[in-house]
Amino acid sequence: MSSFHLQVVTPDGQAFEGQAQRVFCRTITGDVCILPRHCDYMTALGMGEARITDEAGQVRRAACIGGMLSVLNGQVRLVATTWEWAEDIDKARAESARKRAEESLAKATEKTARAMAEARLRRALVRLRVAGK
Ligand code: ATP
Repeated sequence: MSSFHLQVVTPDGQAFEGQAQRVFCRTITGDVCILPRHCDYMTALGMGEARITDEAGQVRRAACIGGMLSVLNGQVRLVATTWEWAEDIDKARAESARKRAEESLAKATEKTARAMAEARLRRALVRLRVAGK
């Protein structure tokens, strides 16, 4: 199976570096799946599940929240604001973040407070979905 070089970096350091068969993630306009020989490409990332299929065919899942994805000359770089491997997600923390966000959303009257509560809720739901599988 052919592969490409993938690097995933976050503000905390490198989360993945190596050959991959595919990378799937959520962009601001929808899901994308990058395969070998993809054309040059750049997009902003949304909030969602990301999946990396490594050279050996093993699939690793992560919550990916914001950032950029680029493909340049066959090299793929994913710079994520937040990247949490499924096994590193604290489900109890995400559940409590979800409850707090729902409570804030129910009380929020002003636009900014509403938008912040919605974003917190979406982050918690992504974490719960990725951790729960
Ligand atoms: P919380 O209210 O629980 O802090 P949050 O959505 O506000 O949730 P973020 O600001 O997105 O949290 O993240 C802050 C840091 O905590 C990041 O480094 C993120 O990776 C980490 N983090 C947040 N929630 C979790 C979780 N449930 N499991 C593991 N790491 C988490």
